[in-house]
Amino acid sequence: MARDEFNDLTKQMLRERVAGRCSNPGCRVQTSGPSTKATRQRYVNIGIAAHIAGAAAKGPRYDASMSAQERKSFGNGVWLCQPCSTKIDQDEERYPPSLLRSWKTEAERLADDEIGRRLPSKQDAFDNVVAMMGSMPKRFSEDGIANVHQAYAARLESVDPRFSITTSYGDKATCIEVRAKEDVSFTLKVQPDRAAEYAEKLRLLFERGEDLRIDADAIRLEGSELFEELRLPGKGMFEMKSTKQVAKTKLWLCSPDGGLRDPFEEAVGEISAGTAYVAFDGKSCGGILSIHYGHALSGKEPPALELKFDSTLWNGRNILTLSYYSQLKLLLDRLEKGWSLDIALEVEGNRISVSKGAGLGGSDFVRTLVFLISFIDAVRAIAERVAQTIMFRGTRTISINEYRTAKQLSQVMAGDEVTFEAIASNPKFEMEVSDVQIVRQYLESQTPHSAKIISRERAVQLFGYCFAVPLLSRFIGRQSWDPSSLIVTS
Ligand SMILES: [Zn+2]
Repeated sequence: MARDEFNDLTKQMLRERVAGRCSNPGCRVQTSGPSTKATRQRYVNIGIAAHIAGAAAKGPRYDASMSAQERKSFGNGVWLCQPCSTKIDQDEERYPPSLLRSWKTEAERLADDEIGRRLPSKQDAFDNVVAMMGSMPKRFSEDGIANVHQAYAARLESVDPRFSITTSYGDKATCIEVRAKEDVSFTLKVQPDRAAEYAEKLRLLFERGEDLRIDADAIRLEGSELFEELRLPGKGMFEMKSTKQVAKTKLWLCSPDGGLRDPFEEAVGEISAGTAYVAFDGKSCGGILSIHYGHALSGKEPPALELKFDSTLWNGRNILTLSYYSQLKLLLDRLEKGWSLDIALEVEGNRISVSKGAGLGGSDFVRTLVFLISFIDAVRAIAERVAQTIMFRGTRTISINEYRTAKQLSQVMAGDEVTFEAIASNPKFEMEVSDVQIVRQYLESQTPHSAKIISRERAVQLFGYCFAVPLLSRFIGRQSWDPSSLIVTS
């Protein structure tokens, strides 16, 4: 079947009337440019004079009612780039003749508009966004931030389209993530004085899957204009990340005699693996507990287990309803008593390793946390007793004095017996007595006795809150005192 083709003059008209740009309003790419070929035709053309109604029967959008002359006329053509012309031919439903005609009208209108005018460059678009930000009403600023990121990423991508770019800003640093869309070869040159450091980090990346992080000044990437663009002056970091996979660890607490094995909260995170080592980093207990767990594939090194505790997630929370408090307390209590952890690492539901008997009994983690939990316990007891809401505050260090005050106050408030051995420093009491003689006789009677002491009104500071010490405190001494050591003044 013969095709009703456009002649050269019609094609030229279709092209020129839209300034050589694709007429698809979502595309608008330029369709011609210079060629280095030493032929007569020294330009490249990626544009096509496409038929609105098909050029041949069975062709897309063919209209039998049209004459051959109408089919090859200017009115039946639209200038498109090659990808767009393929697209419209493969989806006639989505791209009917009426739509293509409206593209053509709009493309001609734009070309008319733009005649003799300087087109905005990519830099202009970027600058515009930045300028807009300055004068934009507050409610648009979220969009403005996204726009800046997109504009910047698009500009960098245009430098070398083999890469996709994402930018982000956090921790007072701009992060530019460069991902190759295809295999890209490049050269990485390391400053001679940093070569040893780089080599070691590279080894860790390959063998253990640890992300490589080095001062940007120490390396130089060659092989794309993009790398030149990214060479930022001043302090920057260069990072090479290993491939991470979403993973889970299941944990069990095991009693020293092996008789009990209780499941603990599982941790979710990711694993990074190298040729010699697999490491898991994840979080458990709503993020309060971070878990790092790693083991050598050779099985020769003992597995490494590290727990970290982030109490900042408790900030501003009522001390009586801290999340995962009882679970953490149980974990610590047991680790302190020599219980161990069994750890199973799972990726996509498949168990990839199990290690048994990781102990943390004497670790810094347990020591610091036992101290904190015991302090919080005391403050919780006080809060309950005085019916006051106390909010957890920060991770600041708790002094031994503060800890003791909380401990003793909570015991006194609970009406617990406080023996003299439990009081670390020498207690000092002032007694107000009406009859010195009776007190002396009483104290000298040598029988085991107890003393009731009425304290003075006093206030203590805990967690930034002020507490009045209850007026009536009971200290019960179980042992007999040596009356000669007692000086009673009236
Ligand atoms: Zn196009």
